[in-house]
Amino acid sequence: MLRLKKKRTIRIKSPQIRKIRNELRILLQRAISSELNKLSDEESKLQQSNGFWDENHPSYETLHREMRKLTSQGNNLRYAYNASILKCPVCMKIDKDMTFNPILEKWYCVDCYEDNKTFQIKQGHPELYP
Ligand SMILES: [Zn+2]
Repeated sequence: MLRLKKKRTIRIKSPQIRKIRNELRILLQRAISSELNKLSDEESKLQQSNGFWDENHPSYETLHREMRKLTSQGNNLRYAYNASILKCPVCMKIDKDMTFNPILEKWYCVDCYEDNKTFQIKQGHPELYP
């Protein structure tokens, strides 16, 4: 994953480019959602496998190893999505210009970033939003 060390704002002025950006974000979100559904279906199938709920069954360890792998894949994908530039984690909007917070290592829309910054300054934590 790309690691940024500085605050960075990406603004797109052209309405055509904004439209393409927003549609790409929707496409990527659909792909992520589809992958998470697939992982969830695989987890359900594993849970219905013979031996999944029986510690003494010969397949128990293999099934649970596979389950841990699927759970880890899902967690990694959710983590990457939540830290991504695809949507603002506060207002959930996907059609906004975004600012990267290098302290929290997350992207926020420019409006939520400024709101959070103002709030954290009042709370005595200006270091959280450079
Ligand atoms: Zn926002």
